[in-house]
Amino acid sequence: MAQAQRITPRAQDFSEWYNDVIMQAELADYSPVRGCMVIRPLGYRIWELMQRALDDMFAATGHRNAYFPVFIPMSFLAKEAEHVEGFAKEVALVTHTRLKATGKTGAGAVAVDPSSALDEPLVVRPTSETIIYAMFAKWIQSYRDLPLLLNQWCNVVRWELRTRLFLRTTEFLWQEGHTAHATEGEAEAEARLILGIYRNFAEEWMAMPVLTGVKTDSEKFAGALRTYAMEALMQDNKGLQAGTTHNLGQNFAKAFEVKYQTAAGALEHVWNTSWGVSTRLVGGLIMTHSDDNGLIAPPKLAPVQAVIVPIWKTDQERSQVSGVGDQVKAALSKAGIRVELDLRDNLKPGAKYFEWEAKGVPLRLEIGPRDVAAGQVVAARRTGGKSPMRLEGIVAAAPAALQEIQAGLFATAKQRREEHSLRGATKQQFLEFMKGSGGFAYAGFCGGGECEAAIKAATGATIRVLPDPEFRSPEAPKTCLWCDEPSVAEAVWAQAY
Ligand SMILES: [Zn+2]
Repeated sequence: MAQAQRITPRAQDFSEWYNDVIMQAELADYSPVRGCMVIRPLGYRIWELMQRALDDMFAATGHRNAYFPVFIPMSFLAKEAEHVEGFAKEVALVTHTRLKATGKTGAGAVAVDPSSALDEPLVVRPTSETIIYAMFAKWIQSYRDLPLLLNQWCNVVRWELRTRLFLRTTEFLWQEGHTAHATEGEAEAEARLILGIYRNFAEEWMAMPVLTGVKTDSEKFAGALRTYAMEALMQDNKGLQAGTTHNLGQNFAKAFEVKYQTAAGALEHVWNTSWGVSTRLVGGLIMTHSDDNGLIAPPKLAPVQAVIVPIWKTDQERSQVSGVGDQVKAALSKAGIRVELDLRDNLKPGAKYFEWEAKGVPLRLEIGPRDVAAGQVVAARRTGGKSPMRLEGIVAAAPAALQEIQAGLFATAKQRREEHSLRGATKQQFLEFMKGSGGFAYAGFCGGGECEAAIKAATGATIRVLPDPEFRSPEAPKTCLWCDEPSVAEAVWAQAY
């Protein structure tokens, strides 16, 4: 462990605080490649736990995993007009396949071999609609081949100059689901189904409350008919788009000639959806829960859910408390808890507490000689509070404590979000809100792109979603927040990542 360093207080500088939490917990690091990050073991473990939970949900709803190439012929990207426009400015391109020695030394020792130029440059995938639907065209012939429900876990590259660990990096990890359906209704149901899975995952596993709804045209995915999203409010009151699902209509099916024969013998284009969540979720998890002592990991996604820290002064005490620590560890492991026993001799208990707190471990079990005598441990929660826990029955008490912590994190985050939500605001209140603490502002929207652009220019806020019915205000707003024309929908505005 590197020398303990101070974490910049969250209230002082949120962005510095966020970076400090990541560095101190050893979740990720900057890489020698500008714009790219290294995900360290603890951060990667959180991602693996996320993957496992989501993958089970995808499988349970009939989706299967596959893998497609990282390279896409440049001409593929050009086939869907909106799509190419959306991604043209952030692609990495492979144009050559060889280097050659120059005879010089140092940085100039190798140069691009001009004779190795590719006839057609390859794009490093920014997303895989094009190559996947080129394959769908080959695999789908009849209505019997539908629906085709695939997902892939992979990396994608979207060129970025500004790096924000987990939030904005040139290369990131994600899953992208791609499906083909016989009817528009089935594609719409699929986009909705996955949005529900994402929401369930965010709330049940990440303890991160989200709003769901549809994106406006200016915020939708390049090439989609409709984009749905889940949006969360971070502790700096900025919105985070945490996952999107797209009803792609027949745009890609037409561009890639993905057709099927109906039961009646007619030839029709399929209807596609795509959907994804990425390592950005790790950033969302950090920004939703953590504090000035470091990471707070919700128990369901915590790489270490409980750490046992024995406390001793003499060798005799050491053997006594470590013996009990071993028993507790074995019992909790058996109960399915991810548990560590910290027997390091070179650190005092206080230093160990500090380190495990920074790493976000939800539950710390302290065992001193007096605790052993009393048949208990002292259970300290990462979210605050210490109380004795009887050794007898610890296999039930520890999981119960973790469940309480998980539920408490969700309740706290949800309450925070509601405290930073503004409903039914006038234009003046809206401007003050966005200039002040910020948050989710619910207001009427005329549907006009001009109002969206003007509000963005004035406040930096964008429409996160036109919320689903359960998130809407009890009374529908009658006029547009900005232009006073009749409202066509309620919109949720926020400054966002
Ligand atoms: Zn308007």
